[in-house]
Amino acid sequence: MAKQQDKFKQVIAHAKEYGYIFSSSEIYDGLSAVYDYGQNGVELKNNIKEYWWKSMTQMHQNIVGLDAAILMHPKTWKASGHVDAFNDPLIDNKDSKKRYRADVLVEDFREKINEKINKDIVKAKKRFKDAFDEEQYRATNPNVLRRQKQIDDITLRLTEVQNDNDLEGFRQLIIDLDIKCPVSGTANWTDVKQFNLMFATKLGASAESATDLYLRPETAQGIFVNFANVQKTGRLKIPFGIAQIGKAFRNEIVARQFIFRQREFEQMEMQFFVKPGEELEWFDYWKTQRQHWHNSLGLGEDNYRFHDHEKLAHYANAATDIEFNFPFGFKELEGIHSRTDFDLKAHEELSGKKLQFFDHEKGESYVPYVIETSIGVDRMFLAVFSSALTDETLKDGSTRTVLKLPSVLAPYKAAVLPLLKRDGLPEIAQQIVEDLKWDFKVIYDEKDAVGRRYRRQDAAGTPFCITVDHDTKEDKSVTIRYRDTMEQKRVPISELKSVLDQELSYKTWLK
Ligand code: ATP
Repeated sequence: MAKQQDKFKQVIAHAKEYGYIFSSSEIYDGLSAVYDYGQNGVELKNNIKEYWWKSMTQMHQNIVGLDAAILMHPKTWKASGHVDAFNDPLIDNKDSKKRYRADVLVEDFREKINEKINKDIVKAKKRFKDAFDEEQYRATNPNVLRRQKQIDDITLRLTEVQNDNDLEGFRQLIIDLDIKCPVSGTANWTDVKQFNLMFATKLGASAESATDLYLRPETAQGIFVNFANVQKTGRLKIPFGIAQIGKAFRNEIVARQFIFRQREFEQMEMQFFVKPGEELEWFDYWKTQRQHWHNSLGLGEDNYRFHDHEKLAHYANAATDIEFNFPFGFKELEGIHSRTDFDLKAHEELSGKKLQFFDHEKGESYVPYVIETSIGVDRMFLAVFSSALTDETLKDGSTRTVLKLPSVLAPYKAAVLPLLKRDGLPEIAQQIVEDLKWDFKVIYDEKDAVGRRYRRQDAAGTPFCITVDHDTKEDKSVTIRYRDTMEQKRVPISELKSVLDQELSYKTWLK
C-alpha cells in the first residue's frame, strides 16, 4: 500500500516537473479536482485522442464523427434520466467531517478482501511452483472459499440496496461491514443521501427570463439528439456508429485521485446503432475491438481486466467496465454498455420527433438499439503515463528515470542533439530538425553533456535521440538512440524519415 502511494506521488510530481499536468489556477492554490495540461501534457492528450479518433472514424467505414455543443436544451437531461437519476449516494463521517461515496466505500472494502485472495495465490504459486493449479486452489482452499463467500455476500447486498434505492439499507451495510473512516478511524456515519452530479447554469441576461441549463455530464446525448441529422445527411445504414470527443462536467462528491476523477474532464464516446435483437452480438464485438485497441499500445495485458456490472443502469441490458491497474489499484477506465433503445425512445417521446431508421429491404421503420463505448481521455492519460514511468538500475549500477510512453503517443518523437556546440555540428542538427519537422514533432537540444541530454529526454518520454557527431560530416550518418533499450544505431541522414515513419506509423501500432 505504502509502495503504491509512493508510486502515485511520484507520478503526480513527475507530471508536474516535466510540463504534463498542473493544478488548475495553481497561483490561487488550485481548484479542487480540476487540472490543466501543460506543454507536454497537451501533446500526449491530443495524441491519445487522435489514436482513438482514427481507430474509430478512419478504420471503420461505417463510423462518422460529430462535435456537439456542451450546452444543450434542458429537456435533453429530462429525457435521458439525468435530472431524476444521475445521483451518487453520499455519506459523511461525523468525526472527521469527511465525505465519501457510499458505494465506493463498500467497493473498496470488497476489493481489499480480493487483494487478500490474490496475495494467498501469489504465495501458493511460489510454494508449489509448476505443480500449482490456480483454478483448483480457488475451488478448494478454505481461506479463499471463505473470503470469496464474503465478497459474494457483499456484492449481493450492494446490488440490492442500489437497485431498491434503499438508503437506510446502504448505511446498515456499511455499519454491518464495520467500515471505518480512513481519517478518523471511526464508524460514526451519517445517513446516506442522494446527490445529483450535474452542474447547473443559466442562459440569458436577466434573472426573470433566464433558462436553467446544465453543463453536459456526458457527451453521449449530443449524439442521440443528432441521430436523425447524421443518419439522413450521411445516408448511413444500420449498423453504423457516431463518435465524439468532448468535455463533460460532473460535480463529483469525492475527487481525490488526481486526474482519475475530475469535475471537468473529457470523454471519447462512440454510439453504435444496431438492429434490435442483434445488440448482444455487437456488445461482444465491441468488447473485443476495444480490448484490441488497448493491447495495441502495449501497456501490459495484465494491467487490464473486465468487470461485468451487477447493477445495470436504468437504460442498459448489458454492461462491462474495462478496468486498469492504476497506481491505486484496478479501477474503471472505460465502459461498454448495451443501452437498448432507451435514449432514442425517450427523446422521441419528449421531442415529438421521429428518431428511427427506415429499413428499405423490409419496408419498415424501427428505433435502433445502441452499443456505447465510453472512455475518459484523462483516465487513459493516467493509465499511459503511470504505466510508462519507470525507475531503472543500469548495468553500471547507475539509475535512470524513464517515461516509456508508446512512441506513437509521445509528445516529441525525437530530439536532435549535436554532440558539441561547435565545429559545424549544431548547423547540421538544425538542418535535420528543419527536414523532419514537416512530418514529426522534434526538438533541438544542445545544452549540457550528451549523457545528461539523453537522461532529460528519457524522463520527458522522447522515444528517439538523434545525435550528430564529427563522423556525420564524413559519412552523412547520425546515431539513433532508442529510449527504452538505450541501443544505438548508425543511420544515414537520408533514411531518418523512413526509419521514424516505420516506428511511428498507425499501421505498425494499430495492426
Ligand atoms: P465511476 O464509476 O468511476 O464514477 P462512471 O461509471 O460514472 O465512472 P461513465 O458514466 O460510464 O463513468 O463514464 C464513462 C467514462 O468517463 C469512464 O469510464 C471514465 O473513463 C470517464 N469518467 C467518468 N467520470 C469521470 C471523472 N469524474 N473524471 C474523469 N473521467 C471520468
